[in-house]
Amino acid sequence: MITSNNKNLKIIPLGGLGEIGKNMMAIEYDGQILIIDAGIAFPSEIKPVSSFGVSDTSYLNDRKNMILGVLITHGHDDHIGGLPHFLNEYNVPVYSSRLTREFIKFKLGNKNKVDLRTINFYESYSLGCFEFEFFPVCHSIPDAAGITIKSPVGSLVHTGDFKFDDNPTLGNPVDLEYLSNLSSNTNLILCSDSTYAEKAGFTDSEATLEEELNKIISQSEGRVLIATFSSLLSRIQQIITISSAIGRKVSVVGRSMNRNLKVALDLGYVTDPQSTVIPLRDSKKLPNHKVLLITTGAQGETNSAMGLISRGEHSDVSIKNGDTIVISSSPIPGNEIKYSHMINNLFRQGGQVIYQTISLVHVHGHGSREDLKRMIELVKPRYFIPIHGETRHLVAHADIAEKNGVNRKNIFMIEDGETVEFTGSEAILGSKVHSGTIYINSSGTPKPQ
Ligand SMILES: [Zn+2]
Repeated sequence: MITSNNKNLKIIPLGGLGEIGKNMMAIEYDGQILIIDAGIAFPSEIKPVSSFGVSDTSYLNDRKNMILGVLITHGHDDHIGGLPHFLNEYNVPVYSSRLTREFIKFKLGNKNKVDLRTINFYESYSLGCFEFEFFPVCHSIPDAAGITIKSPVGSLVHTGDFKFDDNPTLGNPVDLEYLSNLSSNTNLILCSDSTYAEKAGFTDSEATLEEELNKIISQSEGRVLIATFSSLLSRIQQIITISSAIGRKVSVVGRSMNRNLKVALDLGYVTDPQSTVIPLRDSKKLPNHKVLLITTGAQGETNSAMGLISRGEHSDVSIKNGDTIVISSSPIPGNEIKYSHMINNLFRQGGQVIYQTISLVHVHGHGSREDLKRMIELVKPRYFIPIHGETRHLVAHADIAEKNGVNRKNIFMIEDGETVEFTGSEAILGSKVHSGTIYINSSGTPKPQ
């Protein structure tokens, strides 16, 4: 067992740097470690069939006693999907916001002996030598967070996945004053989401979809079927609100969508004051122009609701003449072919299909160049580490940081396994640690490669 009294703050990315997905970062100081996120890899990263990829945590194996806890930024699979496996190896408390905790519980299933702790935003918590605080950010799932961590030699701001949305459909805009107050921390390190660092401008607000969705839902003469992400609750809220105003009823098709909407309604993240949401069986008694179905399968996943509907294989729902089908998503890397097949199949079934390429029916949840610039200008970090992205995204983000006031020698373009050490007076590249991907089969056991 390794013991360490190293008084440098070490940043150790174990996933999500040099790749999209599988996010995990270890923060180490004086023999104590915090973990941020424990995600799975996106499909394009997964080579063996029927398995999923998680971060190789060999580095932590002989440091088990140093790990104090896992801090989870939000409930997407590339941030929580690896938790069941991680917690099998390291039984430590997991800190998250309230709705994220519910998504974690779904992920953990019957795994009972897990210490899940719910944080309040802007409240300070202590673990060993670290103090940390979650702050809310806008993203494509409610209750998403950035995290500030203070250590004896410097402070770190980890943005999680974020965009600036001054008019969010759910929740509040990011607190700009909070972010600018962070700049008073000495030796401040900013680790910021790079996913859309190549895209010019600001990312559109969720509210920009309102007009197009309203037009489609109001003007369609038959049923409307909308596929989107089951965690994109702001989109689901928009659909319920628009439908409610014009007297359409909404039914949900797909297990994860039903489960997520139920918990969101129970906790008050989504509201349905007019009882617009009705069971699918009741919608069958209504005329077509009174029916809207929200479905899973926005990526064309084979066994998802819309995937099955598109091939005429769903047991409860088939495409009728006059149906309008909206694919309210864009394909995640690796899903492009499935996504395209689904759209072609839906046309073959006789539906009118509306999707992102031909109409504004989706905005994404990551900040574009102007959002990223705004984050850097507000936080004014001394040091900068671009995170969450392939190499090209990290390079583009490093460039934004340099153009917006961060000294080039303080920008660290690192990938998984490469480390940075902060002494309090300077930052240097540290020694490389082992990293990679482990493939887990559906029973949760690692597969040899
Ligand atoms: Zn996310």
